Amino acid sequence: MKLHTKIVLGLVLGAGSGLAANVWAGTPWVHWVTTNLAGPAGQIVGQIFLRLLLMTVVPLVFTSITLGVAQLGDVRKVGRVGARSLAYFLVSTVISAIIGIVLVNLVRPGVGVPVAVREQLLEAYRGQVAGLQAGGTTKFGVDLFVNIVPRNPFQAAANLDMLGVLFFSLVFGAALTLIPAEKTRALVVLLDAVGDAIIKIIGMAMQLAPYGVFGLIFVVTSLLGWDILQKLLGYVLVVLVGLLLHGAVSLSLLVRFLGGLSPLTFWRRIGPSIVTAFSTSSSNATLPTNIAVAERELKIPPRIAGFVLPLGSTMCHNGTALYEGVTVLFLAQLFGVHLTLGQQVIAVVLSVITAVGTAGVPGGSLPLLMVVCAAVGVPPELVGVVYGVERILDMTRTTLNVCGDLTAAVYVARTESDWDPRLITGDVSLVPAA
Ligand code: ASP
Repeated sequence: MKLHTKIVLGLVLGAGSGLAANVWAGTPWVHWVTTNLAGPAGQIVGQIFLRLLLMTVVPLVFTSITLGVAQLGDVRKVGRVGARSLAYFLVSTVISAIIGIVLVNLVRPGVGVPVAVREQLLEAYRGQVAGLQAGGTTKFGVDLFVNIVPRNPFQAAANLDMLGVLFFSLVFGAALTLIPAEKTRALVVLLDAVGDAIIKIIGMAMQLAPYGVFGLIFVVTSLLGWDILQKLLGYVLVVLVGLLLHGAVSLSLLVRFLGGLSPLTFWRRIGPSIVTAFSTSSSNATLPTNIAVAERELKIPPRIAGFVLPLGSTMCHNGTALYEGVTVLFLAQLFGVHLTLGQQVIAVVLSVITAVGTAGVPGGSLPLLMVVCAAVGVPPELVGVVYGVERILDMTRTTLNVCGDLTAAVYVARTESDWDPRLITGDVSLVPAA
């Protein structure tokens, strides 16, 4: 059975049996089984799944951000094509994150949980992931900026002060670009290998996902029944509508006005990329399809497609940024954590930065999501509540990630080569210069 089928099965079975346990909670033996067997077992499996992801947070952030920044040095050397790609990645990701934050503020899918229920939920999750708290203050102000700079990077890492770790990694990566390449090469290779090993660990944790998802969703639904399922449904819909809006409106407008290409033609031609991304939940795994689609269907020159798309699959994650922002705010609403405008701005900025650092693998953003939570003062252990529905959102956000990369390729091809949208329909052909 495919992993995502198993995960969906885990979700359905976990929610179903949790609901049943909730409905029949008055029956003595159901109550006994839930509190003494199923509940604790669900907690344990769910916790192990979460902890496996959590233990990757520090090394993942350090390697991915350091390498990302170090690579920027190379990208800049590639000149205008590199700079244009990066600028486009950034702009499209910021737009996407903002759409998510606005939607979740308008719809407020997490608001309205009775205080007693909230307490119960907090109780269930408290201590699951002990110790992951943002170091320093989360108030938006001078203090925050001073506290971002850690006194001691190891202490920051040990305290899971993720802003400090992020800052150190950014500076460290920038410093690497300023040292002669022959000195840094070995370190870059080493960091790359460490990063790959961490991604393997995430892959292993995902094998446990069907059971983890079962446990996590069982624990919440057996406690709260329909109430929580309704809230989760609202949250899933907000993410899906946000992704749809970003694709149908903002990416389409970008393709039209920056790429000069009809959005209809664009969406019609990129079907294979959409299907692959949806079924693999991985930008990296979709890369070969994406390159083929760009070259064959959109007639983008190989030198542009071969540069922009690999870069995009590691750095441009529109859907992930939207997902992270919505999730953090949803959790804050659910648990009554009030986030000021300043903290929401931090959430957007961090969603964008961590989306850039996200590995293009299934569940790649999960560890980083905890980072954003911790940084704005939402207890990161609460992400357990949404992990049950995570796979559906992974499939859809990855699709948007991949489509975003293709729009970037269209834009860069339009501005940095003699590519013409009419090549696609065959209305014009490129005659190689004699
Ligand atoms: N699965 C996503 C991708 O490969 C990353 C993530 O958001 O988890 O693009």
